[in-house]
Amino acid sequence: MVSSCFMAVRALGLPLPPLAAASSDGSCGLCGVPIRKGVTPAKLYQPTAEFAAFEHLHPNRSGWICAACVVVTSSASGLMTRHSRAVFTANKAYRMSNAADICWMLQHATPPFVAVFNTRASAHVLWQAPVTHDRAVIGVVVGSTVGTIRSQAVLSAHAALGRLADAANKALGTHYHWPVFNLSLYGDLVDACRLNPLHESMLRSSANPKVMGDLCAFDDLNPTERWALSALLLARPKRGQSIASFDEPPILEKKND
Ligand SMILES: [Zn+2]
Repeated sequence: MVSSCFMAVRALGLPLPPLAAASSDGSCGLCGVPIRKGVTPAKLYQPTAEFAAFEHLHPNRSGWICAACVVVTSSASGLMTRHSRAVFTANKAYRMSNAADICWMLQHATPPFVAVFNTRASAHVLWQAPVTHDRAVIGVVVGSTVGTIRSQAVLSAHAALGRLADAANKALGTHYHWPVFNLSLYGDLVDACRLNPLHESMLRSSANPKVMGDLCAFDDLNPTERWALSALLLARPKRGQSIASFDEPPILEKKND
């Protein structure tokens, strides 16, 4: 089992610290990888008195953390701060700090990868992140939300929103580009990407089965999928209602290149 933390440390080319093997069996208190007595290099770990985020620790924690998590929690690695909006693939770390970067992740990142998007100054995103093995269902951490993104569902909802905008504009004589508002990447996911109330009441009362189908495609999205959809709607370049192809984001610093 390769943890999200190990992938990030490897992608950045950071060395693992020399640690003695654990003296008892258990699991890493952060990423949860198995710790084997006499085999796995590990460090004893007790959260400090000011550490408040116990819900961010692994439920099977046993007093140890693995070598990768020692690196992740060191301030020198930057993995809790400046490298906490990133995509970590098997050998590279890419920036993921704006809408176009998120779209690139959605369309082009090669599995396995780990995608994290911190929405605060510092957060415990990395060790909670799932490792994505299949682009069909992308695991992601956005702020304090651990979620999944069905890439096809997001693309379908994007196309549906284009048709809904056309239907609503035609019925109401308006000229909105999209029938949604509050497109937010950096804030709370709860209210992100909502239907414009004026358009929504008209669309929901429609007897047109195509409109109802398109509303379902939008309503079906979970909060992290709405975050990804927001990125698609915000990203430049725009080509009308179609989706552009996005350039590879900058590669984050690698220590041993
Ligand atoms: Zn760990």
